[in-house]
Amino acid sequence: MENGRPYRDFGDFLRGIFPFKVQKISVNAGFTCPNRDGTKGFGGCTYCNNQTFSPGYCHTEKSVTEQLEEGVCFFSRKYPEMKYLAYFQAYTNTYDELNALIAKYEEALSFPGVVGLIVGTRPDCMSDALLDYFTQLSQKTFVLIEYGLESTLDRTLFRINRGHTHAESEDAIRRTAGRGIYTGAHLILGLPGESREEIRHHADVLSALPLTTLKLHQLQLIRNTRMAKEQSEHPEQFHLYAVDEYIDLVIDFLERLTPSIIVERFVSQSPKELLIAPDWGLKNFEFTAKVNKRILERNTWQGRLSDYK
Ligand code: SF4
Repeated sequence: MENGRPYRDFGDFLRGIFPFKVQKISVNAGFTCPNRDGTKGFGGCTYCNNQTFSPGYCHTEKSVTEQLEEGVCFFSRKYPEMKYLAYFQAYTNTYDELNALIAKYEEALSFPGVVGLIVGTRPDCMSDALLDYFTQLSQKTFVLIEYGLESTLDRTLFRINRGHTHAESEDAIRRTAGRGIYTGAHLILGLPGESREEIRHHADVLSALPLTTLKLHQLQLIRNTRMAKEQSEHPEQFHLYAVDEYIDLVIDFLERLTPSIIVERFVSQSPKELLIAPDWGLKNFEFTAKVNKRILERNTWQGRLSDYK
């Protein structure tokens, strides 16, 4: 593995592309979600409270430019030479008229210092026309499309009301990567009804796909969500991982994941006021340090048990 690391690291990936420091800035472009407005479903995914996506500087009433201004202002004091990736994160960032979508992306790209886009979306929300645009764009600037898969099991996708199947996830990943566009996935480890072996098996399934990057998140119970209500009524159906137990699960997962997929993160941090559980009290870098320490103790690495090398 590069730089002697036991897994392929997102920071190394960016350093291999850009000869300068880059920082993601989250942008809420005011798009909505087809799983909330009735196009795909009502009520949204059972775990979702979209407030958890937005850092303090990211408000819908502000334009993309205003949000980038504030984000850049925050980081450039410390690193004046830094460049930026506009991260369209909240809700479904490919869900609007084509021209309206492109206008928002172009607004971000025209902001001084922005050197690329990361676009988070659902696998069932990527038209061929928009892929045509991203294909052209990716030939001249950095573009990463990040699909929320959450699980590779249809049984789970149905239970959490995702409103799409794993076949749709695979199709979106193959169509995007097939155009030469960096393609990412997002998975939640610990969804209700999934055994540890089923969670580890997600790594086998993803290893067979043409993914560039992967983000892993622990299941978090968030206030005012359907899942929080479900858990309070049927706590026996949920397993909320203790931190050390989750670290070992992540490492088991990495062992089964092909070494060609870059791992961007292992955990997410929802705002404390919205989080019910688990509250591990660890920042992302503290968690990563614990994973690295445990990997050394276990003398293992990404892909050790993968059939895809
Ligand atoms: S997680 Fe994403 S797709 Fe699901 S309801 Fe929330 S915004 Fe919509």
